[in-house]
Amino acid sequence: MKKDDCIFCKIAAGEIPSGTLYEDEDFRVILDRGPATKGHALILPKNHFEDLYEIDEETLKKVAVLSKKMVEKMTKALKCDGFNVVQNNKEAAGQTVPHYHLHLIPRYKNDGAHILWNPG
Ligand code: 5GP
Ligand code: ZN
Repeated sequence: MKKDDCIFCKIAAGEIPSGTLYEDEDFRVILDRGPATKGHALILPKNHFEDLYEIDEETLKKVAVLSKKMVEKMTKALKCDGFNVVQNNKEAAGQTVPHYHLHLIPRYKNDGAHILWNPG
């Protein structure tokens, strides 16, 4: 189900064009507009779930399977050396868009990226 005032619902539905890397019935994968590293992408479910507390198990399983596929494809395409796969829940944890999304962040040796969830 879509939520009218949600930017990620609009992007997932294709109403706002946003560098789509992959799309199927349930998801759209887009490039993050403020990338932490080259190729930083987001998996967006087309249905609106605010966060991990709300998303249903069936969709969550599909997210996990899709994240593996995307990480494998993107590793080949970008020739990156690793990946952070992360997801923030609630403002206190750094969530800024209240529509569930999984970050796929390619990492490159010595990329110097400062990622919130990296200790130090
Ligand atoms: P959060 O902080 O909620 O975990 O992540 C939100 C992410 O969405 C941020 O990395 C931010 O750069 C990205 N973002 C926010 N608004 C837009 C948008 O309109 N388009 C795209 N492509 N990315 C967005
Ligand atoms: Zn939404």
